[in-house]
Amino acid sequence: MFDCAIVGAGLAGLVAARYLAERGLHVTVLEARDRVGGRVENRVLSDGSYVELGGQWIGPGFDELLEIIDDMGLETIGLPARGNLVVRLRGQALEVPSKEDSPALTPFEVSDLGQGLLRLRRLAKRLRDDVAWRRANEAWLGQDLRRWVSTNLRTQGAQRRFGEVYAAAFGPMPKGATLLEGLHQVNSGPDLESMLASNGGLHQKRVHGGMAAVAYALADRLGDVVRLGAEVVRVEHDDRSARLVLADGEIVEARQVISTLPPRLAVSLPHQPELPVWRGEAADKVAPGNVIKAFLIYERPFWRDLGYSGQSSADEGAVRVTFDTSSDESERGHLMGFFEGADADSLSRRSVTLRERAFVDSVTRTFGDVAAKPLSYIERDWSAEKFTGGCHGAHFAPGVWTTNGPILAEPEGVLHWAGAEYATRFNGYMEGAVRSGREVAAVVARNLA
Ligand SMILES: Cc1cc2nc3c(=O)[nH]c(=O)nc-3n(C[C@H](O)[C@H](O)[C@H](O)COP(=O)(O)OP(=O)(O)OC[C@H]3O[C@@H](n4cnc5c(N)ncnc54)[C@H](O)[C@@H]3O)c2cc1C
Repeated sequence: MFDCAIVGAGLAGLVAARYLAERGLHVTVLEARDRVGGRVENRVLSDGSYVELGGQWIGPGFDELLEIIDDMGLETIGLPARGNLVVRLRGQALEVPSKEDSPALTPFEVSDLGQGLLRLRRLAKRLRDDVAWRRANEAWLGQDLRRWVSTNLRTQGAQRRFGEVYAAAFGPMPKGATLLEGLHQVNSGPDLESMLASNGGLHQKRVHGGMAAVAYALADRLGDVVRLGAEVVRVEHDDRSARLVLADGEIVEARQVISTLPPRLAVSLPHQPELPVWRGEAADKVAPGNVIKAFLIYERPFWRDLGYSGQSSADEGAVRVTFDTSSDESERGHLMGFFEGADADSLSRRSVTLRERAFVDSVTRTFGDVAAKPLSYIERDWSAEKFTGGCHGAHFAPGVWTTNGPILAEPEGVLHWAGAEYATRFNGYMEGAVRSGREVAAVVARNLA
């Protein structure tokens, strides 16, 4: 019998296994896929370069992840080139000088900010055009503007930048200002998105060789502790141990279990005895969003020749933000973008060719005809992945994610849960996965002692 069986070899599972193995405990990691990394994955291209299909950017405060990267002898790299940001608003592309000193925003924060601004703009339009709606929502419109920002923008970075942009446009947000007053400002003042553009510089790090290199290095050191192609299909548990039934019928017994599956997948596994109903309800509230991460590969990073950074944002189109993710291994230009939310929902049901066309169309409108002929298109639709079932976007009801994750992390006898979605800090991010894996492993180690 193992001391601990860990389900899933994503960052959380690998970090948990490392923690326990270093303390001499008898551990196994059961991974359904034929690779480690989970939502961190590299695709190596024919010219030796690679694209990162999942988690990639290291944001401010990702200290535990950075420590692991360092321990594994890996290096971080910054953005490949400096240059100007391009913002496309109402069909017009604007070039915006990047600011060296503006604090970093992750791609998620950029997209969170984008959806927050979009919501505010829609509300402002409604206020202008629909008198009946305004009357019916008088009390709601009287809510504190700061509160509206903190509940409608999910990430702290986006909230901070929103405040800066708002202050730059209208002056500091007065204490006690209402949403109604804010909407009036939006209807009468300068365009918030243009203001955002001039503050939208992005200075992020990633790992040389791709974030997947971190997962490979962790797994290498764990050796045969990690088993690939080992899908857990059923969990039987009592107050002393658990039996994990694999797809081929094999049974793995352990005194403690750490499941690192995203919440919806974790609760949908058959359990004997069954999990309490509230777990299913809480997991439903944090149902994953739908994000398709996509890349256009060009002969060269043409945007650099034009003095652009490759980072762009637009107020319409299937792909609204892009980033230069070209790698040193090749001369080719890699332009990354996301299909998100409703666009991803409808486009994920269409063909790859159609999504490629939609991406090319978006970037051609932003960068011009020079972007019209990529060499190839690569994508990963995470909602179509059986062992992930979607990935988070900035589209959850306010507070839902961060309040339900920690509740779900409460152990059920010998069963423990870890992973990005259970983290109390950096929830949803790689840093959250790493911290949660380490913290839950520490609890398990104490229980075993
Ligand atoms: C497109 C995209 C972009 C992202 N960008 C960023 C970013 O730039 N920065 C950032 O910080 N975060 C980013 N993230 C989030 C980040 O990748 C995740 O938060 C993190 O990798 C999750 O790690 P985890 O170990 O918690 O879960 P996972 O990586 O999902 O690991 C769970 C593991 O369980 C396995 N599994 C599932 N079912 C079973 C089963 N039945 N039996 C056995 N094994 C099973 C899975 O195969 C998987 O390996 C991004 C995610 C996506 C999808």
